[in-house]
This record gives sequence, structure tokens and C-alpha cells, in this order.
Amino acid sequence: MLKITKQINTNPPVLPTDASELGFGKTNSAHMLLADFGSGKWHNHRIVPFSAIDLHPFSTILHYGAQVFEGLKVYRAKNSGLRLFRPKENLKRLNNSAARLCLPQIELADFMQMLEEFITLEKDYVPTAKCTSLYLRPCIFGSDDTLGVYPPKTAKFMLVASSVGNYYKGGLKPVKILVETEDIRAAIGGTGHTKAGGNYAASLRATQKAITAGYDQVLWLDAINRRFIEEVGAMNVFFIIDGVAVTPALTGSILPGITRMSCIELLKSKGIKVDERQITINEVVLANKSGRLTEMFGTGTAAVVSPVGTLGYNNKQHVIGNNQIGEITSYLYDTLTGIQFGDSKLGDPFNWIYKVL
Ligand SMILES: *Cc1c(COP(=O)(O)O)cnc(C)c1O
Repeated sequence: MLKITKQINTNPPVLPTDASELGFGKTNSAHMLLADFGSGKWHNHRIVPFSAIDLHPFSTILHYGAQVFEGLKVYRAKNSGLRLFRPKENLKRLNNSAARLCLPQIELADFMQMLEEFITLEKDYVPTAKCTSLYLRPCIFGSDDTLGVYPPKTAKFMLVASSVGNYYKGGLKPVKILVETEDIRAAIGGTGHTKAGGNYAASLRATQKAITAGYDQVLWLDAINRRFIEEVGAMNVFFIIDGVAVTPALTGSILPGITRMSCIELLKSKGIKVDERQITINEVVLANKSGRLTEMFGTGTAAVVSPVGTLGYNNKQHVIGNNQIGEITSYLYDTLTGIQFGDSKLGDPFNWIYKVL
């Protein structure tokens, strides 16, 4: 067992009473958890009041972007219990990301203990309104105090939390996506399969361009051929073509989403064929023209499932599924959120839920 010291916040922030004011990532909870890495091990695990942190101006994170992170939610079930969705998968991915960036990894037992003690203290920040949650953001970053370029010898772990509202205030709504043909998100051999903060920094310009052009997000193509579909914004992507669920195979430049993996398992268990393969933007456009493409959606922890209603490509707009929410899209959204929020009819058929309190 780790020893985690606790310094209680005597002036904790108050959650807005109207959950629709929450939004995403705006409000912080009362505390944060920190740990330091040095001499080959993690030490000084501590929960302290949420506050600014001290960083040496030479810190590796500030100059070379040595940072990896995760995102997961604490859900409040109807019977008021608090639960996580597949948290061990988050740690597995955090450690894979850390290994790619030469950052130190974390033991599973330590991670789960840190989550449990932190959530127990922050339980009142898990909102009660429908489809709201407490979003957890664990991250690891290099903190060496020299400008030399080498794998960090010292690092910090930080866990912060934000109460977040329902992603879909007015209900599930189809989004408009612009195919990005200039910038790329990731290349094979790079860091696209990791949650490295720098991936996001490099994606902002394309996203900004899409928003200026009246779209919500970007559809990323592969770095070499600019033909194969990779992801949609910071979500994995699925297409329903001739009743088969097609999703890009994990070639190395695509983030292995936990929602993606869960959707694949749900689809298969419902008897829907899942094809993990390469798929080109031309195939999608043609399948849409001939009516064989009936649904397209993104998957990720923040939005769960996000239907795509319009695809902009080469100055043309392609409307998908009459800009309506498809049957399979709704099924996945309802089933996943049902399992996460403890809908008694569904239970936890795949053993995905980790109860905390
Ligand atoms: C986090 C993330 C996803 C979704 O992963 P989940 O585990 O489903 O939340 C997809 N793509 C990118 C680029 C991401 O960073």
C-alpha cells in the first residue's frame, strides 16, 4: 500500500447548482493528487488543495513537451454509488504512452489506490444530473531542471478532476465534419497511438480551420497517402456500410480508444459484423452516394458516441444518413451510457464497471 498524505482544502469550490452551467473542463474539484519520480521510483504521494504548481523554468515539460495523459470519468449510478468504466485499460494505455516518451510508468495497484483515495475525498464533485460526471485527468510529465535533451530522470504524476455536464445538452445531435487534406495528426512510428499532449498541440490548426469553415471537427487522413481514414477529431470513427461496422485498423498512428474497443465488443455481441481494416475517404464517399453507407459516428470518453451528419470533402458536402441519428449509433450510445450509469435493466454484462463507493 502507498502512503498518501492528505492536506484538506478549507475553502473548497462550490459546484454550480444548475448542471447545465458545468460545460467541459471549466470547474475544478477541491483537491489534486501529486507524486514525484526520482532515483528510479515514485515517492511523496500527496493529496493537496487544488492550486498552482511550482515548476523549474528549465523543466523538460516546458521545452520538449514530455507529457502523457489519460481521461476517464466517475459516474454516479441511480442507487448513488460511484463507479469507473474500465479504469485498468486507462492505466495500461498511460503506461504505453509513458514508455513511448521515455517517462516513468505506474504500478496498477498504486494507480487504483490513488484513484480510490482521491475519488473518496472528491465524491461531492460528482454531479447528480443526468449524464453528468466527474472527469479525471491523470498525467505524467518530465520535470528535470536542465535544458539538456535526454529521457527525463525526474517526473511528476498529477491527478486533477473537473465536474462535467451532459455533452449533449439538447440530446444526441449529428455533427459536421471537414476532411483535412493538408495537416496530419500522426504518422506511423510517431506518437499517434499514445495520449501525448503534443499530438493535440499539432492538431489545433486544422480544427481551427474547420470551425472557421462552419464545421465542428476534422476527419484525419493518413500521413503518407492522404487517403486512409484515421480518426475524427479526438475520437475513433466507425462507418456502417451494408450493415457491417467498419473502423480503421490500429496501424500505429491511431489512438486505441477504450470506447472504440467497447463498441466493437457490443456490436459483435449483438451479431453485427465488425471489420477492422483500412478504409479510404473515396470508399466512404462512394458508399454514401450509392446509399450503402447508412451511419457514421465517432467514439470517445467525453462524448461517448457522436453521430456524423455531414462530411465536407473537396469543397462538397456529403449528407450522411439524412442527417439523422442512426439505429446502431443510438443503440451504442444508450447501451454504453446505460452500463456506465448503472441502468438496472442492462447490469454490467461485460464486467466493465469498477465500483469505488
Ligand atoms: C482519447 C482519444 C480517443 C478516445 O479514446 P477513449 O479511450 O475512447 O476515450 C480517440 N482519439 C484520440 C486522438 C484520443 O486522444
